[in-house]
Amino acid sequence: MKKWLAAMMAAVLCMSLLTACGSTVKEEVTEETAQTEQAETEETTQEETSAEDTAAVSEALADGVLNVGTNAEFPPFEYVNDAGEPDGFDIALIKAIGEKLGVEVQVDNMEFASLVSSIGSKIDASIAGMTVTDERKASVDFSNSYYTAVQYVILPEGSAIATADDLKGKAIGVQLGTTGDFIAEEIEDATVSQYNKAVDAVNDLVNGRLDCVIIDKNPAMVFESKFEGKVTAVDGAQFNFEPEDYAIAMPKGDTVLVEQVNTALQELIDDGTFDALVSQYIEEN
Ligand code: GLN
Repeated sequence: MKKWLAAMMAAVLCMSLLTACGSTVKEEVTEETAQTEQAETEETTQEETSAEDTAAVSEALADGVLNVGTNAEFPPFEYVNDAGEPDGFDIALIKAIGEKLGVEVQVDNMEFASLVSSIGSKIDASIAGMTVTDERKASVDFSNSYYTAVQYVILPEGSAIATADDLKGKAIGVQLGTTGDFIAEEIEDATVSQYNKAVDAVNDLVNGRLDCVIIDKNPAMVFESKFEGKVTAVDGAQFNFEPEDYAIAMPKGDTVLVEQVNTALQELIDDGTFDALVSQYIEEN
């Protein structure tokens, strides 16, 4: 948010607060005036605050720029488009949030595993199909969840793997530092190979170096069509994997930023923008 705009909004808020307080201490007002003033005060209180109207300004937005980290290896949520730019559902969503907040959004494409530790220093926030976990909550605060997914298991065509038991002792590919990685580490006797790019894991699966890849539902489905006839993506519910919620991660304790982002997110849900992005980026894939 621009500094002058923030200052102006703060001034306007102070003035309206003074007016509101003033009306409560005035003793000798005519009944009519009192009623009018009361009505006006109610109107002010009832007026919905929009994302940009929030009086307090997060430090992260003070320079008018929201620096957002992502890992553009996770289609359809984030990928590098033909123009070489990070694109996808998450990128479009955070840009729409930035617009609501009146700030410019700059996207930094980095390794998924370094996102959480960079929040509050190198970046202001991250949007990366990131699952809310207790471990991550110890270091960052999350927005309200905007998507529910589950881990999928990508198998080579004709694989006999069908249950949680079948995964024991297998060679499993995952993306480094993801919830798929954490799940795989828990599987008895499994040999887990961690990749920076999920597509490299799928390539190794196709080349016979892995028995399966564990990755989130939507990228799994994108890879299934990209490697059509060679791999199948199986719902993780079949392997007893639990649903996961995606949210935007922000610096721990920056309640102002979290509140502003949540308000903007809700506005985008209410005005239909969110659903339009879901059909544009997720359902068409
Ligand atoms: N949802 C998974 C996680 O949070 C994977 C995210 C990703 O690879 N971008 O760990």
